[in-house]
Amino acid sequence: MTASLNSRSRKAEVLATVPGIKQARVARTTGVVVAVVRREIDGETHHVAMCMDHGEQVIHETYDSARRSLPEPEEWCGTCCRLYWV
Ligand SMILES: [Zn+2]
Repeated sequence: MTASLNSRSRKAEVLATVPGIKQARVARTTGVVVAVVRREIDGETHHVAMCMDHGEQVIHETYDSARRSLPEPEEWCGTCCRLYWV
């Protein structure tokens, strides 16, 4: 399927180009590329769950928490939510 091929190459591109990236995956629910990115904010390390297709992001206290949110971007990305629940 063309869509999933595109998603796979998007994922590779994200992994290769986004600074601080820890993990990227294609969310099965909406087909977007989502990622966990490590950020220093006010001198503290945070892990940010990001929807790379829509630019939405959620800051998590731990890497595990951010990682666990990745498979369901419709729960935290407004655009994915609209895609998923139509
Ligand atoms: Zn999204």
